[in-house]
Amino acid sequence: MRNRRAALTTLVFASSLALALTACGQNGAGGGKKEKGGTEGATIGIAMPTKSSERWISDGANVEKELKTKGYTTKLVYGEDDPDQQVAQIENMITQGVDALIIAAIDNKSLDNVLRQANDADIPVISYDRLILGSENVDYYASFDNTKVGELQGTYIVDRLGLKDGSKKGPFNVELFAGSNDDNNTKYFFNGAMKVLKPYMEKGQLVVRSRQTGLNQVTTLRWDGGTAQKRMDDLLTSSYRGSRVDAVLSPYDGISIGILSSLKSDGYGSAGKPMPVVTGQDAEIASVKSIIAGEQTQTVYKDLRQLAKVASNMVDAVLNDKKPEVNDTTSYDNGPKVVPAYLLQPVSVDRSNYENVLVDGGYYTANDLK
Ligand code: BGC
Repeated sequence: MRNRRAALTTLVFASSLALALTACGQNGAGGGKKEKGGTEGATIGIAMPTKSSERWISDGANVEKELKTKGYTTKLVYGEDDPDQQVAQIENMITQGVDALIIAAIDNKSLDNVLRQANDADIPVISYDRLILGSENVDYYASFDNTKVGELQGTYIVDRLGLKDGSKKGPFNVELFAGSNDDNNTKYFFNGAMKVLKPYMEKGQLVVRSRQTGLNQVTTLRWDGGTAQKRMDDLLTSSYRGSRVDAVLSPYDGISIGILSSLKSDGYGSAGKPMPVVTGQDAEIASVKSIIAGEQTQTVYKDLRQLAKVASNMVDAVLNDKKPEVNDTTSYDNGPKVVPAYLLQPVSVDRSNYENVLVDGGYYTANDLK
């Protein structure tokens, strides 16, 4: 399994050579291709960002399960949302001699040095869910269509307010929240949502009373729910005395929980003051329960079982000198290169379809949501 990166670059040549050798009645051994079972027992390092959110705990477990099924040994670490800790953990795994790395970055720009070390040790790197920026040593990217996530959130707001079908004209008041500014996904989510919301803002049908509409004004460091709660408190005080907020664009369930606490403290959700439309992402159990209870309105479900499969298949292919399946070779430019990606499709979930999507789809049991 040595010199994999070079083997990858010469894959096409190597495969034709192997074919030629086979045609000559030889078995291709030494032609760069691994014999079946050649990766047996190889160790894959998995670096996840935090245990503070349910989704990443599931990601870690799902990826380990997929890799173990393929015969790999795994080493799973969590960086507690501290970029330095994540770098140290990855360095450690390189020193321990892992054969490949799957990384969900905390700070997408902090990994260039450590990935250079990985490259020097001939360790391939799969960027998991969040694209790692500024490094050429990222081999593949496994994620969801992140622009689509934002589009689903924006579309939900305009649909739900009745703007899209023209049944209501507004104006409605909306406030905008985005994710962490060191996560590459943040701008994809936000831009996807704004593509849908902006035309209504320009027509005056959606009004952001705080006037905080630029991405740099609405980010939430490390996706922290408490930070979002504090900002929502400030917005309600500064811009909503004497008027109500009709919708809040929230990029992630943990942020939605913070926003909802703030709204509840301000009397929303009680008689005569209905909750605004509040979006989310990840379909975390607490938030699906909140949707069932009529507090949060929507979330975006991403099937993490599928993501784990995609990432594990990528590792398996690379370690066996094969080309992983990708379906996007243009969207994810990390600076030094466009990283070949496989993007899965997200699904909008609310009270009307959660049973169908989440329970019938086997993601949760009905009991999980009680
Ligand atoms: C992920 C989201 C998640 C967020 C916060 C993003 O990079 O794509 O699914 O909600 O991080 O953990």
